[in-house]
Amino acid sequence: MSPTAVDELVFLPLGGSNEIGMNFNCYGYGPAHDRKWIVVDVGVTFGDDTTPGVEIIMPDPAFIEEYADDILGVILTHAHEDHIGAMGWLWPRLKAPIYATPFTAFLLREKLRERGVMEQAKITEVPLNGSIVLGPFELTLITLTHSIPEPNGLAIRTPLGVVLHTGDWKIDPDPLLGGVTDEAAIRRLGDEGVLAMVCDSTNVFVEGTAGSEASVRETLNHLIGSLRGKVAVACFASNVARMDSAIRAGQANGRRACLVGRSMLRMAAAAQSVGLLKGLEPFLSDAEAGRFADDDILYLCTGSQGEPRAALSRIADGTHPHVRLGPGDHCIFSSRIIPGNEVPIRNLQNKLADRGIRLYTERDHPGVHVSGHPCRDDLAEMYRWARPKIAVPTHGERRHLLEHVAFAHDLQVPQTIAPRNGDMVRLAPGRAEVIDEVPSGRLYVDGGVLTVENGEALRERRHASHSGVLTVAVVLDQEGRIASGPQVQAIGLPGDEATPLGEALDALADAAEQALSGLDDWERDDDHLVEQALNRTLKRTAYRIWERRPIVTTTVMRV
Ligand SMILES: [Zn+2]
Ligand SMILES: [Zn+2]
Repeated sequence: MSPTAVDELVFLPLGGSNEIGMNFNCYGYGPAHDRKWIVVDVGVTFGDDTTPGVEIIMPDPAFIEEYADDILGVILTHAHEDHIGAMGWLWPRLKAPIYATPFTAFLLREKLRERGVMEQAKITEVPLNGSIVLGPFELTLITLTHSIPEPNGLAIRTPLGVVLHTGDWKIDPDPLLGGVTDEAAIRRLGDEGVLAMVCDSTNVFVEGTAGSEASVRETLNHLIGSLRGKVAVACFASNVARMDSAIRAGQANGRRACLVGRSMLRMAAAAQSVGLLKGLEPFLSDAEAGRFADDDILYLCTGSQGEPRAALSRIADGTHPHVRLGPGDHCIFSSRIIPGNEVPIRNLQNKLADRGIRLYTERDHPGVHVSGHPCRDDLAEMYRWARPKIAVPTHGERRHLLEHVAFAHDLQVPQTIAPRNGDMVRLAPGRAEVIDEVPSGRLYVDGGVLTVENGEALRERRHASHSGVLTVAVVLDQEGRIASGPQVQAIGLPGDEATPLGEALDALADAAEQALSGLDDWERDDDHLVEQALNRTLKRTAYRIWERRPIVTTTVMRV
């Protein structure tokens, strides 16, 4: 297939560019009015204090949804939440066939099942190093190393050139599980000529190399061997190699492994489905583990990020039904602090320390964790192998992407471009440039409902959580006189000794009554005008009392 004069190859991130999380990348090929698309990764990010009640956030696919019929496939590079987490929610909007390697497909099926779309979705399992042809796109998976089984880069061949989409990666010479980085395949691609490399920017500020999983095993082995009492290791459940290392380090020191936390068990099942975590002593249930001597047990726990409902938080709170840790016991954090989680992690570690548990973290015990993303030497190596004409940094905040641009420039990459979500980048023909800005945004999972970013409900909840709520109800008779009320209630507003809450509410009720008596007869016949008057008065009075502007809701009834 050769390109026509009007064909273009475009890259369009709808998530994951200018943030670390919710990756959603589109590649389009064809003339502007008739592009065919593929989507690479459909991930989530997580809510924080600014999104009360919203834990899961994902890219708004509105733009690409319009072209759903032209989406030839969704390809998932690996099973991290920021790459597959939104699949169950967004599949109904994309309705395209999904391609993933077996481990990723196992976890994907759970996600689709949870959202009730498993039956409709078509999943094709692609073997490692396998190929897929989707219209003008010929994709080949390239085995990389990362912090989860089966991380794949994609060689995307089109009539206008080859794109190397790295996904998440590092160069681990000894990843313990799975193959090493397929350097030969990347070099061959480099020889063939790589038009653009769309690349992970997470660790662009970190000098050196990310390091090897094998060295972590070594460190854990020594550390666990030196400890008496119960030992708990906190790590990401998806880091199966780490899980394997901790379990083997335990076994080598006479400890049986007990997996604590639902996602740990779920990941172990996914790993075993593709032949990983084999040749180990059977895991103990947390109930069984309680019957073993302290020196004979190793707990693997979820909750290294301080997630309140995860195993480690419950152990720290003393509310876990089976696992108790105390003086003389140990907890190894074999994980990094994800930016934004500093406070919950500190709180968790304080609670554990308060129980007399000794803590070991990356900071005080270097080597108990290594990153899954490429540091500067890894990046330089990848650029030497692939030799792209255009560097397109993704998977980073703005500062990461711009640093990556500067770094690629230093490595003599002829052209660099760091898109923002919604920037449509034409990669070929001609110089790479942003040719369009399309709508991009976020969707929030708000109590099981998928809503727009910063919608009315969340805005009100934020307002209420900051300033409280006042409700006023009044019953008027036929003549517009007060038959009952006004009754004022407050939610989330304080009283003090000088002005107890009851007095404040009385003052508000008086003000409401005065406002009503200030209205003309014709105004009092109009519910809307009555509500307006009450609203205004309550707001003004509330501000005088609390120096706050609470939400005011008004109910007018007629008898
Ligand atoms: Zn990622
Ligand atoms: Zn990842």
